[in-house]
Amino acid sequence: MFVDSHCHLDFPDLANNLDEILGNMQQNNVTHALCVSVNLENFPRVRALAESHDNLFASVGVHPDYENLIEPDAPQLANLANHPKVVAIGETGLDYFRLKGDLEWQRERFRQHIQAAKQCSKPLIIHTRAAAADTLRIMAEEGADSIGGVMHCFTESWEVAQQAIEMNFYISFSGIITFKNATLVKDVARKIPLDRILIETDSPYLAPVPYRGKTNQPAFVRYIAEEIAKLREVSLTEIAAITTNNFFSLFKIA
Ligand SMILES: [Zn+2]
Ligand SMILES: [Zn+2]
Repeated sequence: MFVDSHCHLDFPDLANNLDEILGNMQQNNVTHALCVSVNLENFPRVRALAESHDNLFASVGVHPDYENLIEPDAPQLANLANHPKVVAIGETGLDYFRLKGDLEWQRERFRQHIQAAKQCSKPLIIHTRAAAADTLRIMAEEGADSIGGVMHCFTESWEVAQQAIEMNFYISFSGIITFKNATLVKDVARKIPLDRILIETDSPYLAPVPYRGKTNQPAFVRYIAEEIAKLREVSLTEIAAITTNNFFSLFKIA
Protein backbone atom coordinates (compact mmCIF):
# COMPACT_ATOMS: atom_id res chain seq x y z
CA MET A 1 0.00 0.00 0.00
CA PHE A 2 0.97 3.60 -0.64
CA VAL A 3 0.18 6.85 1.15
CA ASP A 4 0.09 10.32 -0.40
CA SER A 5 1.49 12.60 2.31
CA HIS A 6 0.57 15.87 0.58
CA CYS A 7 -2.26 16.70 -1.82
CA HIS A 8 -4.87 19.39 -2.38
CA LEU A 9 -8.10 17.48 -2.96
CA ASP A 10 -10.11 20.63 -2.22
CA PHE A 11 -8.75 22.38 -5.34
CA PRO A 12 -11.38 22.48 -8.12
CA ASP A 13 -9.55 20.17 -10.57
CA LEU A 14 -9.73 17.39 -8.00
CA ALA A 15 -12.79 18.34 -5.92
CA ASN A 16 -15.00 18.33 -9.02
CA ASN A 17 -14.04 14.69 -9.76
CA LEU A 18 -13.69 13.43 -6.22
CA ASP A 19 -15.44 10.08 -6.66
CA GLU A 20 -13.26 9.21 -9.64
CA ILE A 21 -10.10 10.41 -7.82
CA LEU A 22 -10.90 8.29 -4.75
CA GLY A 23 -11.69 5.29 -6.96
CA ASN A 24 -8.34 5.65 -8.71
CA MET A 25 -6.60 5.70 -5.33
CA GLN A 26 -8.27 2.45 -4.38
CA GLN A 27 -7.41 0.78 -7.69
CA ASN A 28 -3.76 1.76 -7.28
CA ASN A 29 -3.55 0.69 -3.66
CA VAL A 30 -3.07 4.26 -2.41
CA THR A 31 -4.85 3.78 0.88
CA HIS A 32 -4.54 7.18 2.59
CA ALA A 33 -3.93 10.83 1.72
CA LEU A 34 -3.26 14.00 3.67
CA CYS A 35 -5.18 17.03 2.35
CA VAL A 36 -3.06 20.10 3.02
CA SER A 37 -4.57 23.48 3.80
CA VAL A 38 -3.21 26.60 2.07
CA ASN A 39 -5.38 29.31 3.64
CA LEU A 40 -7.95 29.64 6.40
CA GLU A 41 -10.75 30.59 4.02
CA ASN A 42 -10.63 27.14 2.40
CA PHE A 43 -9.70 25.22 5.54
CA PRO A 44 -13.33 24.20 6.31
CA ARG A 45 -13.45 22.42 2.93
CA VAL A 46 -10.20 20.58 3.68
CA ARG A 47 -11.46 19.59 7.12
CA ALA A 48 -14.80 18.45 5.66
CA LEU A 49 -12.96 16.07 3.30
CA ALA A 50 -11.20 14.49 6.27
CA GLU A 51 -14.39 14.32 8.30
CA SER A 52 -16.31 12.56 5.56
CA HIS A 53 -13.65 10.00 4.55
CA ASP A 54 -11.90 7.61 6.96
CA ASN A 55 -8.76 7.50 4.80
CA LEU A 56 -8.31 11.26 4.35
CA PHE A 57 -6.63 13.56 6.85
CA ALA A 58 -6.24 17.35 7.02
CA SER A 59 -3.73 19.99 8.05
CA VAL A 60 -4.29 23.64 8.91
CA GLY A 61 -2.09 26.51 7.78
CA VAL A 62 -1.56 29.46 5.47
CA HIS A 63 0.82 28.99 2.53
CA PRO A 64 3.61 31.61 2.10
CA ASP A 65 2.36 32.48 -1.41
CA TYR A 66 -0.92 33.96 -0.13
CA GLU A 67 -0.41 37.69 0.34
CA ASN A 68 -2.65 40.39 1.77
CA LEU A 69 -4.80 38.40 4.12
CA ILE A 70 -5.46 38.61 7.82
CA GLU A 71 -2.42 36.99 9.42
CA PRO A 72 -3.17 33.89 11.47
CA ASP A 73 -1.61 33.81 14.92
CA ALA A 74 -0.30 30.79 16.78
CA PRO A 75 -3.21 30.35 19.24
CA GLN A 76 -5.73 30.56 16.39
CA LEU A 77 -3.89 27.90 14.34
CA ALA A 78 -3.45 25.64 17.37
CA ASN A 79 -7.14 25.99 18.12
CA LEU A 80 -8.16 25.01 14.58
CA ALA A 81 -5.80 22.02 14.80
CA ASN A 82 -7.66 20.76 17.84
CA HIS A 83 -9.60 18.16 15.85
CA PRO A 84 -8.98 14.38 15.61
CA LYS A 85 -8.55 14.41 11.80
CA VAL A 86 -6.28 17.49 11.69
CA VAL A 87 -2.84 15.92 11.99
CA ALA A 88 -0.40 18.74 11.13
CA ILE A 89 0.27 22.47 10.93
CA GLY A 90 0.93 23.78 7.41
CA GLU A 91 1.72 24.16 4.78
CA THR A 92 3.94 26.94 5.96
CA GLY A 93 7.44 28.15 5.18
CA LEU A 94 9.17 30.58 2.85
CA ASP A 95 8.92 31.14 -0.88
CA TYR A 96 11.35 33.68 -2.34
CA PHE A 97 10.76 32.36 -5.86
CA ARG A 98 7.10 33.28 -6.33
CA LEU A 99 7.18 36.52 -4.34
CA LYS A 100 9.78 39.29 -4.20
CA GLY A 101 10.36 42.42 -2.16
CA ASP A 102 10.15 42.77 1.60
CA LEU A 103 9.02 39.35 2.76
CA GLU A 104 9.32 39.91 6.50
CA TRP A 105 5.58 39.08 6.74
CA GLN A 106 6.34 35.60 5.33
CA ARG A 107 9.00 35.00 7.98
CA GLU A 108 6.71 36.21 10.77
CA ARG A 109 3.87 34.01 9.48
CA PHE A 110 6.26 31.03 9.42
CA ARG A 111 7.28 31.73 13.04
CA GLN A 112 3.60 31.77 14.11
CA HIS A 113 3.08 28.36 12.50
CA ILE A 114 6.09 26.85 14.29
CA GLN A 115 4.80 28.20 17.60
CA ALA A 116 1.34 26.80 16.85
CA ALA A 117 2.80 23.35 16.12
CA LYS A 118 4.59 23.41 19.47
CA GLN A 119 1.43 24.57 21.26
CA CYS A 120 -0.75 21.78 19.85
CA SER A 121 2.00 19.11 19.58
CA LYS A 122 1.35 18.44 15.89
CA PRO A 123 4.12 18.25 13.29
CA LEU A 124 4.89 20.90 10.67
CA ILE A 125 4.52 20.68 6.88
CA ILE A 126 7.19 23.02 5.51
CA HIS A 127 7.34 24.49 2.02
CA THR A 128 10.65 26.10 1.06
CA ARG A 129 11.56 27.52 -2.32
CA ALA A 130 14.68 29.59 -3.09
CA ALA A 131 14.86 30.25 0.66
CA ALA A 132 16.64 27.26 2.23
CA ALA A 133 19.05 29.22 4.44
CA ASP A 134 16.35 31.42 5.99
CA THR A 135 14.01 28.45 6.36
CA LEU A 136 16.60 26.45 8.32
CA ARG A 137 17.57 29.51 10.37
CA ILE A 138 13.98 30.24 11.44
CA MET A 139 13.36 26.54 12.16
CA ALA A 140 16.39 26.60 14.49
CA GLU A 141 15.49 29.95 16.10
CA GLU A 142 11.92 28.85 16.85
CA GLY A 143 12.90 25.40 18.11
CA ALA A 144 11.12 23.45 15.36
CA ASP A 145 13.26 20.43 16.26
CA SER A 146 11.16 19.91 19.39
CA ILE A 147 8.10 19.13 17.27
CA GLY A 148 9.50 17.92 13.91
CA GLY A 149 7.62 17.51 10.67
CA VAL A 150 8.27 17.22 6.96
CA MET A 151 10.09 19.24 4.31
CA HIS A 152 7.53 18.77 1.56
CA CYS A 153 8.21 18.58 -2.20
CA PHE A 154 11.93 18.58 -1.49
CA THR A 155 14.13 20.14 -4.18
CA GLU A 156 17.16 21.25 -2.16
CA SER A 157 20.66 19.79 -1.73
CA TRP A 158 21.81 16.87 0.40
CA GLU A 159 23.36 19.40 2.83
CA VAL A 160 19.98 21.06 3.37
CA ALA A 161 18.34 17.64 3.76
CA GLN A 162 20.89 16.66 6.40
CA GLN A 163 20.28 19.82 8.41
CA ALA A 164 16.52 19.26 8.30
CA ILE A 165 16.95 15.62 9.35
CA GLU A 166 19.10 16.75 12.28
CA MET A 167 16.18 18.93 13.33
CA ASN A 168 13.90 15.90 13.46
CA PHE A 169 12.33 16.37 10.01
CA TYR A 170 11.36 13.95 7.27
CA ILE A 171 12.04 14.63 3.59
CA SER A 172 9.15 14.20 1.17
CA PHE A 173 9.64 13.56 -2.55
CA SER A 174 7.15 14.65 -5.21
CA GLY A 175 6.81 13.87 -8.92
CA ILE A 176 9.85 16.09 -9.55
CA ILE A 177 12.01 13.07 -8.68
CA THR A 178 10.80 11.36 -11.88
CA PHE A 179 11.96 14.25 -14.08
CA LYS A 180 15.10 13.49 -16.08
CA ASN A 181 16.99 16.66 -15.06
CA ALA A 182 16.24 16.35 -11.31
CA THR A 183 19.77 15.20 -10.48
CA LEU A 184 19.97 17.01 -7.12
CA VAL A 185 16.74 15.44 -5.83
CA LYS A 186 17.71 11.99 -7.12
CA ASP A 187 21.01 12.33 -5.26
CA VAL A 188 19.19 13.12 -1.99
CA ALA A 189 16.87 10.14 -2.50
CA ARG A 190 19.87 7.82 -2.88
CA LYS A 191 21.55 9.04 0.32
CA ILE A 192 18.73 9.67 2.78
CA PRO A 193 18.09 7.15 5.59
CA LEU A 194 14.98 5.15 4.70
CA ASP A 195 13.32 5.97 8.00
CA ARG A 196 13.21 9.67 6.97
CA ILE A 197 11.48 9.32 3.58
CA LEU A 198 7.93 10.31 2.68
CA ILE A 199 6.26 10.41 -0.72
CA GLU A 200 3.64 12.85 -1.99
CA THR A 201 1.96 14.06 -5.16
CA ASP A 202 1.30 17.74 -4.26
CA SER A 203 -1.61 17.17 -6.66
CA PRO A 204 -3.13 18.76 -8.70
CA TYR A 205 0.40 20.05 -9.47
CA LEU A 206 3.61 18.30 -10.51
CA ALA A 207 2.33 15.09 -12.08
CA PRO A 208 5.13 12.50 -12.32
CA VAL A 209 6.38 10.96 -15.54
CA PRO A 210 4.54 9.48 -17.52
CA TYR A 211 1.78 12.02 -16.73
CA ARG A 212 4.03 15.09 -16.62
CA GLY A 213 2.06 18.23 -17.57
CA LYS A 214 -1.32 16.62 -16.84
CA THR A 215 -3.49 17.08 -13.75
CA ASN A 216 -1.91 15.15 -10.91
CA GLN A 217 -3.84 12.98 -8.42
CA PRO A 218 -3.00 10.86 -5.33
CA ALA A 219 -3.14 7.59 -7.33
CA PHE A 220 0.05 8.71 -9.11
CA VAL A 221 2.12 8.60 -5.90
CA ARG A 222 3.16 5.06 -6.82
CA TYR A 223 5.34 6.44 -9.65
CA ILE A 224 7.34 8.38 -7.07
CA ALA A 225 7.80 5.23 -4.97
CA GLU A 226 8.88 3.35 -8.12
CA GLU A 227 11.52 5.96 -8.90
CA ILE A 228 12.94 5.83 -5.36
CA ALA A 229 13.01 2.01 -5.46
CA LYS A 230 14.92 2.18 -8.75
CA LEU A 231 17.41 4.78 -7.46
CA ARG A 232 18.12 2.77 -4.30
CA GLU A 233 17.99 -0.64 -5.98
CA VAL A 234 15.45 -1.99 -3.52
CA SER A 235 12.00 -3.45 -4.11
CA LEU A 236 8.91 -1.31 -4.60
CA THR A 237 7.29 -3.24 -1.73
CA GLU A 238 10.02 -2.10 0.62
CA ILE A 239 9.63 1.59 -0.35
CA ALA A 240 5.84 1.31 -0.10
CA ALA A 241 6.07 -0.21 3.39
CA ILE A 242 8.65 2.18 4.81
CA THR A 243 7.02 5.37 3.47
CA THR A 244 3.65 4.21 4.78
CA ASN A 245 5.10 3.44 8.22
CA ASN A 246 6.90 6.79 8.28
CA PHE A 247 3.66 8.58 7.45
CA PHE A 248 1.74 6.93 10.26
CA SER A 249 4.46 7.51 12.81
CA LEU A 250 5.08 11.19 11.91
CA PHE A 251 1.40 12.13 11.91
CA LYS A 252 0.61 9.88 14.91
CA ILE A 253 -2.19 8.04 13.12
CA ALA A 254 -3.12 4.77 14.82
ZN1 LIG B 1 4.17 23.58 -1.15
ZN1 LIG C 1 1.10 21.86 -1.44
